[in-house]
Amino acid sequence: GITTTVCALDTVPAAALAHVLPHRPDSREGIIALAQHCTAITCESENIPANVLAVAENHTRLHPTAATIAIAQDRYTEKNYLRSLGIPTADFQVVDQASDVVVAANKLGFPCLLKTRRGGYDGKGQVRLRKADELAAAWSAIAGQPAIVEAMVPFTQECAQIAARDTNGHMQFYPLTFTWHREGILRAAIPVPTERELSAQARDLTARLLTALDYVGILTVEFFVVAGQLVANEMAPRVHNSGHWTIEGARTSQFENHVRAITGRALGETDLIRPTALVNCIGTMPLPKTIAAIPETFFHDYGKTAKPGRKLGHITVQATDQTALWLRVQQVLAAIGEAPIATEHHGNSKSKLSQQHREGVI
Ligand code: ATP
Ligand code: MG
Repeated sequence: GITTTVCALDTVPAAALAHVLPHRPDSREGIIALAQHCTAITCESENIPANVLAVAENHTRLHPTAATIAIAQDRYTEKNYLRSLGIPTADFQVVDQASDVVVAANKLGFPCLLKTRRGGYDGKGQVRLRKADELAAAWSAIAGQPAIVEAMVPFTQECAQIAARDTNGHMQFYPLTFTWHREGILRAAIPVPTERELSAQARDLTARLLTALDYVGILTVEFFVVAGQLVANEMAPRVHNSGHWTIEGARTSQFENHVRAITGRALGETDLIRPTALVNCIGTMPLPKTIAAIPETFFHDYGKTAKPGRKLGHITVQATDQTALWLRVQQVLAAIGEAPIATEHHGNSKSKLSQQHREGVI
């Protein structure tokens, strides 16, 4: 019973399902038009300037709030905020000029990462710093934008906590979801079938953040796993790619729960209803029949123009148990020309990781 309107200038995939207001979403006029048209507004990107979004708050409900977006759209502000809540992050240094990069890299040690404070996604705006003579080129590569230098985290795994909070402060947590990235881009995600020590840690840290922000809607925190402890990478104040499996795999999808929350409704349950995984289609789309040939797959094509490194769609994979699921995920990855997962994680052999995953240990 909810109708949707999107604010977008170009042809957007959402146009197939929503009314379109043809304005730039980062313009004051676009946000005012949307606010006059809708009873609740949300955004799918944290890159709309917070001061432009704030205009909507004079007219209608906006979730996430402009204040939350202001924190999330700047890596430096975001990391400071996480730390102020006692949530561990990688060590970092703010850099405003080329000489700061030298000081920061020497302090944090090589290798480390130069990341622009604003506008980055899918690993864009990031340069790996391996040795001192690469620093000047790295600074030019990001065109001297305000940035941070971040210490490399020696993680054994990455995971994401997708969570929802409603207007009464009630929270729901999806099962902790393990994630695999390559070239800074999410390739696959698998929610854990049973609760583990890490699940409680992730929930507690994420709850702290949701409460502090007085957050309404879906928010995801990406974590690194280091010696059994979680270190926050970043937060995403929106529905998140690592939670796209929830459409078929959870009692209530992240999208439905986001809409429920921002429209003042009660949240739906977030439990996993069947062993489920997500595989992303990056750069090119497979033929639908290639995927249809693999049982228990759900093919999502976003209708975007293909570009190298662009997320164009995803495949939800299901199976009767975790062992069958794991094998099927590798089959889907092979079918779309992606490398198998869990082969490139620091200090963990593929067999050990996949064994642990089969057993539901991680
Ligand atoms: P997105 O918003 O799409 O998640 P992003 O461009 O904001 O991506 P990050 O999440 O900062 O990028 O990094 C992308 C990936 O790069 C991480 O998931 C991780 O695999 C790797 N990475 C980033 N920072 C570090 C770090 N400090 N140490 C080790 N690996 C890292
Ligand atoms: Mg990320």
